[in-house]
Amino acid sequence: MSTATAEMKTQAPPANTYRPKGMLIGGKWVESASGARITIENPGKRTAVAEVPRAAEADVNAAVAAAEKAFPAWKNVVPRERGKILLKIAEVLEARSEEMARTIALETGNALRTQARGEAKLAADIFRYFGGLGSELKGETVPLGEHVLSYTRREPIGIVGAIIPWNAPVMLGALKIAPALCAGNVLVMKAAEDAPMAVLLMADICQEFLPPGVLNVLTGYGAECGGPLANHPKIRKLSFTGSTEVGKVIMRAAAERIVPVSLELGGKSPSIVYPDADEDWAVDGIINAMRFTRQSQSCTAGSRMFLHEDIFDSFLAKLEKKTTALKIGDPLDEASDIGTIINNKQYSKVCKYVQDGLDRSDAKLVFGGLPPKTGPLSEGYFTMPTVFADRSNDWRLAREEIFGPVLVAIRWSDEAEAIRMANDSHYGLAAYVWTHDIGKGLRAAHAIESGWVQVNQGGGQTPGMSYGGYKQSGLGREFSLEGMLDSFTQRKSVTVNLAV
Ligand code: ADP
Repeated sequence: MSTATAEMKTQAPPANTYRPKGMLIGGKWVESASGARITIENPGKRTAVAEVPRAAEADVNAAVAAAEKAFPAWKNVVPRERGKILLKIAEVLEARSEEMARTIALETGNALRTQARGEAKLAADIFRYFGGLGSELKGETVPLGEHVLSYTRREPIGIVGAIIPWNAPVMLGALKIAPALCAGNVLVMKAAEDAPMAVLLMADICQEFLPPGVLNVLTGYGAECGGPLANHPKIRKLSFTGSTEVGKVIMRAAAERIVPVSLELGGKSPSIVYPDADEDWAVDGIINAMRFTRQSQSCTAGSRMFLHEDIFDSFLAKLEKKTTALKIGDPLDEASDIGTIINNKQYSKVCKYVQDGLDRSDAKLVFGGLPPKTGPLSEGYFTMPTVFADRSNDWRLAREEIFGPVLVAIRWSDEAEAIRMANDSHYGLAAYVWTHDIGKGLRAAHAIESGWVQVNQGGGQTPGMSYGGYKQSGLGREFSLEGMLDSFTQRKSVTVNLAV
């Protein structure tokens, strides 16, 4: 739940950031039925920057009713034409990407230059990618004999309920909106309570081109608004991105009504560094994979680093030099490489993990530690990239998703043991392997239990590439044509007797 309060000092909105007009239901900007609002905080300064409606069950009902009304016409729009609308949206997203990026930086704390601009651009690319896929909603003919015509159709599922988190709100929101609408569904999406503003800007751009009710965006808290959405009897599909804990709640709600569910959940992703990779490119890759420049608030973060014993100390020395050179500061400042943690709750959680590491006599602090208590960095939720070494894979810091910049470095000597430790986790979202020996790298990639393994790079997702988790990291795939077909359509078989 958002930690912002109405009593918090208010800050005038920075230039070129979006001002919310309410939430979007049936093509109109509305307040919540109760009139209650949520205060949005700038985590870089701990000041209030905006208010949005605090939606609850009555608002969910109104949004679902608007979506229901819009569905019959929208599903019958020729798919290519739906795609064209997404392409128009992509153009405006691109044109307003600086406003989008500044709004993302303001409310999430993600640095404008290193993170928010990339996210805003990626949102436009996601709409562009799915905008081109309308004609790929194809069915098949089935050879049942000369006197029978049997074919399949890819039909939309209906009203999709989507719930998104705050860490990459626009990218993750675009990943629900674009494929769901391309496939002919209508959507009720709940933005995260900590970062709804940029999502509302995206909705504002979308609604210029979409018929009313096709996309509805609610702002509200998890249990209070997300709960009624997940449990609404008219929602025919649930698509959730967030924590594994809440993912289980969503799956239980889906089980009650037998509705399909896509879940993109947490991770504790391993990086295996081979002895031949004690080089600068691998260190840069590890920093990228760990998402240090987004405070590691990423489910893809490579937060368990298995370093070969021969290079353990020299690799960590290089990592320290490069990571400590990154500038931590105001997310909206062009000079900042690293911004802030989202809110006080997450900040305290990260600090507790760091303290736990510091309290252990058998764990060595390589660099980082607790954030400063005075000076400019104490004004926001700034944390320090931190690395602990020398403990095994079994302590809390190596098992739990911290969602903050705390990396554990674990020694290995035997390759099979490294892979065993990498797989010893209930998560399986991403993984990274670092070696010049491509045979070894690919053998490891195939042996790791994870939905996405990168070899010698630590980049982010790209439209077209299926993304999703093994084990408790999730269910279903997003980001791709297959993801759209599997997650947002249902197949119907039609069989015709030609002999009559
Ligand atoms: P994070 O730790 O990234 O905030 P959460 O899983 O807590 O992840 O939140 C992700 C999204 O799920 C947010 O939009 C949040 O409001 C929503 N959410 C949290 N709890 C519930 C719940 N009980 N039912 C439905 N949605 C929820």
